[in-house]
Amino acid sequence: MPKVTGDRCVFCGKSEEEVNMLINGLSGSICDECAQQAYEMVKEYKIRSKSDFGLSLKDLPKPEDIKNFLDQYVIGQDEAKRFLSVSVYNHYKRLMQKTTKDDVEIEKSNIIMVGATGTGKTLLARTIAKMLHVPFAMVDATVLTQAGYVGEDIESILSRLLQAADYDVASAQRGIVFIDEIDKIARKMDNPSITRDVSGEGVQQGLLKLLEGSLVNVPPYGGRKHPEQKMIVVDTKNILFICGGAFDGIEKKIAQRLNTHVVGYVSSKESAHIDRNDFLKYITPTDLKSYGLIPEIIGRLPILTYLNPLDRSALRRILTEPKNSIVKQYIKLFEMDGIKLSFEEDVFEFIVDKALEFKLGARGLRSIVEIIMIDAMYTMPSSNKKELNITLAYAKEKFARADTNRLKVA
Ligand code: ADP
Repeated sequence: MPKVTGDRCVFCGKSEEEVNMLINGLSGSICDECAQQAYEMVKEYKIRSKSDFGLSLKDLPKPEDIKNFLDQYVIGQDEAKRFLSVSVYNHYKRLMQKTTKDDVEIEKSNIIMVGATGTGKTLLARTIAKMLHVPFAMVDATVLTQAGYVGEDIESILSRLLQAADYDVASAQRGIVFIDEIDKIARKMDNPSITRDVSGEGVQQGLLKLLEGSLVNVPPYGGRKHPEQKMIVVDTKNILFICGGAFDGIEKKIAQRLNTHVVGYVSSKESAHIDRNDFLKYITPTDLKSYGLIPEIIGRLPILTYLNPLDRSALRRILTEPKNSIVKQYIKLFEMDGIKLSFEEDVFEFIVDKALEFKLGARGLRSIVEIIMIDAMYTMPSSNKKELNITLAYAKEKFARADTNRLKVA
């Protein structure tokens, strides 16, 4: 298009000579300054009408929706699900809050989940991640070490979040991080050594910086920091941290506290009601402190919830009920070969019996099903049979012939 001399911006009236650039339209031109200003106004409008991450409050899943979603994949653990659902919902609300004159700023509420291994902590975190509209990263606290020791720097937690956000820093700064095995960085109480505690307190101190909300220099690709590596600055103020840990033996601490507390306050009849096998529901931050978490960390994880040990009926339900239950997965595997797989009811009871007998919990269910199914999975794809019904006798026979030592490792 030939350049029109004497052209002016229709917004500010400046001539071509007075601006850096004129963008010609059908019936007029706009200068670079006015275009920039228009862009800022559109951006501002979008932020005001929606949240800055493209969701409005009415689009958000409500706590009950989040819990219903979790119910499809995780059996039981209602208490933990409710706490998680509310926390995640509040996390979104905090991200959407606009600066108002009333000075009320919603602070984030990081969560800590306590429950024996294999009760569904990681599964809950993974399932939450499935329905999120924000980046999500999962890390194991055992790989973290205090700066200067062999292992990963604490900042590598944020490297994973950055990766999950495709290195979009603004997006990572609104993400959620699940830190598993937080109990493994507890201070070793029975070893009050004055030398440095490599695995425990140092890591907790490092973690504190992240939980508190600060500007952190993050190595983009994780691992250890190298002087020549370019760092990315990440603000952790809005990142939601969910921690999980088995805290083996914490029941003893709870029991001790309850006993001392109970005396003089509650009648002995009432104290007898306390279920000795299920102390976790009485957990308080004090117990985390006696276990070896530093008070500052506990203070930064204000939401404390627990997971129940899985009983017989929970294990039975886990086998078949979740949307991607172990049994449904095997049925699908066979279906892909055109084989209709079915199980007799009492096979499920047998599997649960064995999981309990070998003290394997939910993790063991899969190994037991695997033992029962391995022969069929080997032979059926090349046979002409189109149906397979697993009877109790079949399951028992396969289990009896298997090397159950393999189960112990599970
Ligand atoms: P944790 O993190 O508490 O050690 P996981 O979440 O990794 O335990 O659970 C191990 C496996 O056991 C999961 O992959 C899942 O198949 C099964 N599982 C455990 N708890 C549940 C549950 N409440 N509902 C459904 N499956 C469960």
